[in-house]
Amino acid sequence: MLRGPGDVAVEQRPVPEPGPGQVAVRVASVGVCGSDTHYYDHGRIGRFVVEEPLVLGHEAAGEVTGRGPGVTSPAVGQRVSIEPGVPDLTCPQCLAGRYNLCPNMRFFATPPIDGAFAEYVVVHAAFAHPVPDALSDDAAALLEPLSVGIWACRKGRVTAGSRVLITGAGPIGLVAVQTALAFGATEVVVSDVNLTRLDLARELGATEILDARTAGVTDLDRAPGVLLECSGHPAATVSAIRALAPAGRAVLVGMGGDELALPLSVVQENEIELTGTFRYAGTWPTAVALVASGRVDLDRLVTGTYGLEQAEDALTAGRRDPQSVKVVVHPQT
Ligand SMILES: [Zn+2]
Repeated sequence: MLRGPGDVAVEQRPVPEPGPGQVAVRVASVGVCGSDTHYYDHGRIGRFVVEEPLVLGHEAAGEVTGRGPGVTSPAVGQRVSIEPGVPDLTCPQCLAGRYNLCPNMRFFATPPIDGAFAEYVVVHAAFAHPVPDALSDDAAALLEPLSVGIWACRKGRVTAGSRVLITGAGPIGLVAVQTALAFGATEVVVSDVNLTRLDLARELGATEILDARTAGVTDLDRAPGVLLECSGHPAATVSAIRALAPAGRAVLVGMGGDELALPLSVVQENEIELTGTFRYAGTWPTAVALVASGRVDLDRLVTGTYGLEQAEDALTAGRRDPQSVKVVVHPQT
């Protein structure tokens, strides 16, 4: 658990009991997200401030070990991937199918809700998604970041023949590459400053990679129709919006600068559509199918595995090693 900026500790707690409608899950793998590291460094993300000790981690998978009253599925023993945000299911946004925008969302590792760097968690039964044996524990955990990529492709309406530009080749950019290809994109250009990650993007199917230190996105041979902005870098975002074809769509996924000076004449004269994304809704069935069918490889992203006692090393691996892409914590080891 995180007690304050740069201060984590392991604490013994009772195994949580599943309440009505919940299942208990023995956690097998948890991915470390940039947001976990941000909480570790700063003790807050925007308006979310860590005021009480907080268990981090929201990309988790494991095995159902118990069921609360009223739960008929999943079965005890079933391997599941956890969708880490449970909405109220009654507000206007939920009823409109946009449960990611629910104002009453309870999301793992977002104060005051504890996350999954733990041996056991409880979760709403409908948000514990069964996974086939073909998926490794790590892949099952990383269905969460894959969901971010799926949601971005849906918001950008990526489809057969799409030309897609992805700025930022971190874990989200790398799942977005694979998702865009699975959605039928025929050109996927990836830009980043990290050559290790660019090489991985190419290996995962990117049709062109650009070293952002030397190559601009505005002089591509053919202008992309969809931008999936995964860097959070304001200057990169503006350049990429300028690079879009007329009627192009810009999907802002990466988090970085709070404000952006938008080239309004470019947006207006080209009728650029611009949207943000916030988490995802209804993505797990697609995520499971993409990985189970081999269209998306999540295990390839894993560059380090840590035990619960080494959670601090896991949280800082990204900054210590430029070769690091995605690290996971295995709480049972
Ligand atoms: Zn709601």
